[in-house]
Amino acid sequence: MQTFEESSLSPILAQGLKRIGFLNPTPIQKKAIPSLLEGRDLMACAQTGSGKTGAYMIPMIAKLLANPNSQGLVLAPTRELAQQISDFLQSLIPDSRQLHTVRLIGGQDIRKQFKSLQRKPRVIVATPGRLIDHLKRNTLQIHKVDQLVLDEGDRMIDMGFAPQLEQILKYLSGQRQTSFFTATLDNKVKSLAQKYLNNPISLLLDEAKPVSKIKQSVVKVDMAKKDECIVDELNRRQGSVIVFVKTKHRTDRLRKHLVDYGFKADLIHGGRSQGQRNQALKAFKNGLTRILCATDVAARGIDVPHVEHVINFDLPMQDEDYVHRVGRTARNGAEGEAVSFVTSHEYRDWNRLVKKYNIPNAMIDVPQAKRPHGKPQKSGQAHGQGQGKKSFRFKPKRNGFGGKPNSQNNRSNRSPGGR
Ligand code: AMP
Repeated sequence: MQTFEESSLSPILAQGLKRIGFLNPTPIQKKAIPSLLEGRDLMACAQTGSGKTGAYMIPMIAKLLANPNSQGLVLAPTRELAQQISDFLQSLIPDSRQLHTVRLIGGQDIRKQFKSLQRKPRVIVATPGRLIDHLKRNTLQIHKVDQLVLDEGDRMIDMGFAPQLEQILKYLSGQRQTSFFTATLDNKVKSLAQKYLNNPISLLLDEAKPVSKIKQSVVKVDMAKKDECIVDELNRRQGSVIVFVKTKHRTDRLRKHLVDYGFKADLIHGGRSQGQRNQALKAFKNGLTRILCATDVAARGIDVPHVEHVINFDLPMQDEDYVHRVGRTARNGAEGEAVSFVTSHEYRDWNRLVKKYNIPNAMIDVPQAKRPHGKPQKSGQAHGQGQGKKSFRFKPKRNGFGGKPNSQNNRSNRSPGGR
């Protein structure tokens, strides 16, 4: 398959693809679409932002349009991803008479979902928890689903959904085609995939590694200086930024700090209502807010084409989240930058990420901490913050975005390469 026009997709689907500007399939789409149209099960490991939604949705829609008895189910780990998948569906086939779809996610009025389910949807996009809720209430049957997609299977496991997925499996019939998409591949992911798949074609395009177009760098910073450092980083950058933070509380605090400095910033984390999360995403997508502070809830699934920068204000708790965070920029071949703040306690964690994901020129020299009597500390023992650390000065700010002037005596150090 070279172009979508050349492939013999139904006119409704071909028009939809043209309307949303999909002319040529991405590499994953080139490989996955023909296999799925042939009816094979699929196990696909692809980079984040590679076009995986189209890779499973285009053949699913083609089959649904061709066979009025066919029904599709897409499972996604987060509400945001489910929302995005159903938005994609609706942008491709906006007329619900041609294809009625329903989104079943937590945080939304379940009675509205009952009504929508009564119209016999052809595609259900759901998070596992809410899907099970409906199955138990008997407001939904899925034994007729003949096309199943598990999106971000690795994330489902990370988020503890494996038991729910086992439960869902019992409600499905064996007569179905299943595709399993994941960004990373380890034994847990493989074992979950095996339970769902039957003699699948494997597409190991590229186990998630930050895409090469992302310029990645590191800033060594004291914990107490992070607030100054972020202001400086935001001032030196142009365009929209997602800032990743470890906890809900820290996200709230950072957003307030940035707003105090005159930045247009909003936040998204698991403690906010679905309405608030949607609103924050919408304002960010429309360019009304420039900065989105987020916990890892938002690391996957957000597709905002214009994100120029990702800042890891805190390093992620799980290595894999690094990939998903920085994958928010440089979507679909665009360019982007990602910078990570690393405190002296985290040098080893950072270096592990550098090795694991081949981040160029970003390794930090870990100073050998001295004991009071001069003997070197045993490896593995923590060293005090700032010990063995050089002092660095920030460069003066380049543009006037934001409010208060920068401190000129920040202690931070940027890696030599990658910028
Ligand atoms: P995904 O990996 O599905 O989240 O897609 C990443 C981005 O690539 C989204 O903004 C898609 O709209 C875009 N995209 C996916 N496939 C294509 C295509 N064939 N042509 C143009 N843009 C695409």
